[in-house]
Amino acid sequence: MQLNKVGEKTYYLENATNIGIYQINEKEVYLIDTGNDKDCGKKILKIIEEQNWQIKGIINTHSHADHIGGNAVIQSRTNCDILSSKLENSIINNPILEPTILYGNTPIKELQNKFLMAKPSKSKEIKDLEEGLEYIELKGHSPNMIGVKTSDEIYFLGDALLNEETILKYHFFYLTDVKEFLNSLEILKTLKGTLFIPSHCQATENIDFLIQLNEAKVKEIINFVYQQCAKEITFESLLKKSFDTYSLKMDLNQYVLVGSTLKAYLKYLLEEGKITYFLKENQMFWKQI
Ligand SMILES: [Zn+2]
Repeated sequence: MQLNKVGEKTYYLENATNIGIYQINEKEVYLIDTGNDKDCGKKILKIIEEQNWQIKGIINTHSHADHIGGNAVIQSRTNCDILSSKLENSIINNPILEPTILYGNTPIKELQNKFLMAKPSKSKEIKDLEEGLEYIELKGHSPNMIGVKTSDEIYFLGDALLNEETILKYHFFYLTDVKEFLNSLEILKTLKGTLFIPSHCQATENIDFLIQLNEAKVKEIINFVYQQCAKEITFESLLKKSFDTYSLKMDLNQYVLVGSTLKAYLKYLLEEGKITYFLKENQMFWKQI
């Protein structure tokens, strides 16, 4: 995990999930996300100690386990504040909600795993931030995701932009609301910053290419789902067709993640007036209008 200084007060740790650091004074820092697990939290603590810094607080961009995994160990050692927005805050305090949302009810044991459920930590709803930090709403990948801007004009973007490898490998990268995700891409197009740090990409001065890539894939999947509804189709058949067409390998996590994402696409097409649903012989079907 390498510490990179990218602004007067802004740093980040290069990691599977990048970690932001903002120095609010000589001694104290805020973290932006904490990586995927306890080990990651311990590595962050070690680096912070080496710099003689203290962690005043953590801002979580959203509640996914790979962004809040280090929260519990860092909070237990430092007693720092954790700040996050509305629904994300509820999930961070009650991480069982994440697999519950994906499964649709109390999740089966196999879904209560570290990829879908972090250890609980105590988060407060974000209101005012320390001087030098601002947040912007970037909904769509998760219900109330935020990005964080520092006084160095550096943006930490959470998962508002997925990386090229993920897009090409998974195609149905996780979304909770397609319309909100597209809307967030429009917000990203307007941002002026010196550096942008999406959680799973290299830091970059220009996000135009990533925005195009994310937008093109979402529009491709919208069209794919729409085409599959040319004939009446059940959700389970659509899910199989999605895995088959894109040569995806189904495991239990992917079953719920892609399944949940497909439901977001169906809702989008329904609200756009492109498809409808009906119930027949005790089955639910989707069909183009
Ligand atoms: Zn995420």
